[in-house]
Amino acid sequence: MRPITLSVPFFLLTAPAMAAVPQVVTDIPAVGSLVAQVMGDLGAPEVLLDQGANAHNYQLRPSQARALQSADLVFWIGPEMTPWLDRALQGVAGGTAIELLEAAGTHKRAFDAPHDHEAEDEHADHADEHGAEEHGEEEAHAHSHEGLDPHAWLDPGNAQVWLTAIGDQLAAADPENAATYAANAEAARARIAQMDSEISAQLQPVHDKPFVVAHAAYGYFADHYALHVAGAVALGDAAAPGAAHLADLRADLQADGVVCAFPEAQHDPKQMALLIEGTNVRLGAALDPSGSSLAYGPGLYEALMRDLGTAISTCLSAE
Ligand SMILES: [Zn+2]
Repeated sequence: MRPITLSVPFFLLTAPAMAAVPQVVTDIPAVGSLVAQVMGDLGAPEVLLDQGANAHNYQLRPSQARALQSADLVFWIGPEMTPWLDRALQGVAGGTAIELLEAAGTHKRAFDAPHDHEAEDEHADHADEHGAEEHGEEEAHAHSHEGLDPHAWLDPGNAQVWLTAIGDQLAAADPENAATYAANAEAARARIAQMDSEISAQLQPVHDKPFVVAHAAYGYFADHYALHVAGAVALGDAAAPGAAHLADLRADLQADGVVCAFPEAQHDPKQMALLIEGTNVRLGAALDPSGSSLAYGPGLYEALMRDLGTAISTCLSAE
């Protein structure tokens, strides 16, 4: 403790009571947006992922590592999403880290097994039967697209569940402002419900049109809006795809009647252009599932979701 001298003005002596709003750090801008909506005018979380950066592979700057050390609360998706943050959190002594994938009521899904047109029988163990010998190059990445899919914020139902969890955690850390956190969370849930019904209406006419994406991030979005994702260039952890996987995917474009291919904000668009070269698959707008190309702040989550809805419906409904 710093010694207090008589010359310190009175308002500084009362500072601890005024500093009751917790210091909050978040992993990706989508989570930062949800937390910012709950904190409202009381404060703003720090988002670790820099503008334009890839959410799966990131290097913390020293100032960010320090922010993590002094945080009261850390809200993050979980180790499957950001292994770099998992490692960083192991070195943090104080504060509370809340893994949102573990929040009660979160809808979780597993990554789809690759090549699902053989999987019409929908056997969950299909991935285990998938022969590694015919896809030697892919074997190294096989584990990254099996198991828990961490892109769970793309299900607006999860965002609503997490708003409640975020409000509860903030209220526990800062009981004086509990009513404000609860009211802000409630208002944010209502905004998301409205957004959800609008995106639902927007995507309904194109829900059965197959499309391919740059990385396997859209399972929750596709499940929620009953969309047909026919394949992904890169696997769940956004690792570089193998040649065998690309050849398979190119064959699938024709077999599945794929309508659109969507590049991604943090990926090289050339790969997607090459994939569809010589086919009649349309190139859609770049998608940004983590939101790192958008303006950070409370409005980001809704912008991210609406941008996805608009990009997908625009390309799939074009004549
Ligand atoms: Zn991802």
